[in-house]
This record gives sequence, structure tokens and C-alpha cells, in this order.
Amino acid sequence: MSTNTVDTLFEQSAERSWRGMNEEMLLNFQFTASDPESLDGITEDPPPPDEDPEIEFRYNMAGRGERVRCVYCKHPNHFKGIVVRYRSGRRLVGRDCALTHHGVEFEKDLIDFEAAFERQSLARRRRALMAARPKIFQDFTDLKTDPAVETHDRLMKSWRQGFGYVAVGVADVARRDERLKVTKIERDEAAERERKQRLGDRFEEERRKTKAAGKPWQLYKSVDLDVGPLDGVVFFKNGIPISTRLEAIHEAVRAELITLANDGLTSRQISTGFRKLAEKVDELAREFDLLDALAEAFSAGNLANIAKWANAQAEEQARREAVVENRKPEPFYPRFFADGQSLRWGTGRHPATITLPDVYRPAPRTLLSTLKEALSLDYEP
Ligand SMILES: [Zn+2]
Repeated sequence: MSTNTVDTLFEQSAERSWRGMNEEMLLNFQFTASDPESLDGITEDPPPPDEDPEIEFRYNMAGRGERVRCVYCKHPNHFKGIVVRYRSGRRLVGRDCALTHHGVEFEKDLIDFEAAFERQSLARRRRALMAARPKIFQDFTDLKTDPAVETHDRLMKSWRQGFGYVAVGVADVARRDERLKVTKIERDEAAERERKQRLGDRFEEERRKTKAAGKPWQLYKSVDLDVGPLDGVVFFKNGIPISTRLEAIHEAVRAELITLANDGLTSRQISTGFRKLAEKVDELAREFDLLDALAEAFSAGNLANIAKWANAQAEEQARREAVVENRKPEPFYPRFFADGQSLRWGTGRHPATITLPDVYRPAPRTLLSTLKEALSLDYEP
């Protein structure tokens, strides 16, 4: 390579500096050399101590599994490194060698260079996000007016208001992440037989004494009746309408997008904005999960389990009251009836009824994918 070419190279690249660029310039700046060894003016001569080094490009060949020659190592030794421009030609320096062979001043330059590179990536992501704004707002509007949201909120309200203590009981089961089960108190006949054998001749005497003291003589044990699993758990836990939460999430996203629309934000401000938006995406995912859970909660099998569980609870309650009052329990008639995607409480003229419409479909997760894509993509000018 002639001195002339190196000089031309130097003149050209002196104009392209990564320092002090506005966002527009930054977006078009090329930080990465995709094939550093093929750049013009590369020399393997040791860097002259009287020339100032200028960081020109970075390279990262880890993805391709190719190591790059290094002016200090003298052989292909590094996946990651930088191209350093001197008046006498370019040098390829491995990242680790850049830190060991150069002073503090150069290290500071390297940090600034990497910061500018990161800033470019954030600026691209910010542009991509800004470009996606109309789609994001359209998807929010579509979701908020999706019939699934209205159905969920209406059924959640009817369930909580119309099914009183049963709704509270199921919410307890849901919060403890348990199965639907009823704890029954039953006579423990085995334990009574064992006691009779143990007491022998003293049996009648002991019984008289216990009764005279006003204590119960019969022995009881508790037995769990397992009715089955509870499906659509989050529906039963939840008490806040989806429409309320969507409004709050939409508002927060809108505010963050307004902040991010400002030019001249620092890298930190931009990445903080992205992090906050990512949190909102997680919140949004939970609302979609609630819409899915509604269908599971109102599946025929789940409603049948809930009806069975609620009836067994009521029957056991009535039986215990009878025992306390020392009378025979009245015959029990079921009060809860499941029929397909419908649950009814009561047999009189005004039973509480709750039904999931056959046409119910959870809203499509379009907004979620729009946001995820907008937050992860680089802007393509
Ligand atoms: Zn090296």
C-alpha cells in the first residue's frame, strides 16, 4: 500500500468521527467493521509511539467463530476488538490487548466509543418504537372494545355479587392454589371400638362420668372429600375489571411514549423508558391471561366441580349444625346446579344464574405482539 493511499484514508476517516454527533448522524454512522482484515491500509508494524491512536471501528466475529489477527499478538487471537487508525495506517487490536497495551486515556476513549455505539442502538430502537405508535394505539383501541373484555368484566361482577359466600370460598381456594375439597366430620367408629376394648369393665362407668360432665362421648374424625381441581384460577382471584386495568396500562404507555418522543434524551433515559414499557407489556400479558382463564373457569367440567363442591359444603354445614343442636339433620337438597357453561344458585323463582356465552373467544393477543416487536426491533432506515 502506498503512502498516498494511507494519507487519503486518513483524510477521509478524519471527517468521520463518532464524537459529538446528533441522533440523525449517529443513526447513519457505521461503528462495526464486518470484515476488519479486509479494510484498506492495515499494517502489522508496531504502533509508532509519536502518533495519536483514534478508535475507528469495532468488530465482533464471535458469531462467525473467526478470530482476527492482532498487531500485538501477531496472530489471529481475538473474536472481539477494534480498528485503530494511526497516521501511518490502521492497526487491528484485540479487545483485551487494547486495554493492556494502551494507557488510561485510551481506555477512556474506548468507553466513550462503546457508549456512542450503545447510543446508536438505543436511538434505532427508539425510532422503531416511534414508527410503531399508530399501530400500538389502534391495537389498544381494538382490545378495549373487544367483546371479550366486556364479557369478562360483566361475569366477574355477577359472580362476585350473585354468588356471595361461594365466590369468597372459591377465591380462597384459588389464592391458596388448592384443589376443591370439603372437610367432613364423621363418627370415628374404629376409634370408639378401640376405646371400648381398652376400657373393658370400666366402659359404662366412664361413659356416665363423661356425660355427667357434659362432654361429648362420641368420637369424630375429619375426612377430606376431594372434589377435583379448580381451573381458570386467576379469574376467581381477580377482583379488578380488565377495562379498568387496560385504561391504566394504556395511560402509562401513552405517557412513556410521550417522554420517549423527546429528542436529546440520554442513553439512560431511553433505556429506562424501554424498561418501563417492558413492565407494562408484562402487566398486559396478565390481562390476556385473565381472558383465557374465563373460558377455563366456565368450562362445563369446572362448573360441575364448583356446584358439587358448593353443595357438599352446604350439606356438611347443615349436618354440623344439627350435631351441635343434637338433632337429626334434615334431608339435603342441592342448591347449586351446573348446566354446560352455566351455573345456577337456588331453585325458587329468582335463582342467581351466570352463563358464559357460547360465542365467547378471548381477545387476540395482537397488541402484545405489536408492543414486543416494537420494543425489540432495530429501526431500518
Ligand atoms: Zn492481541
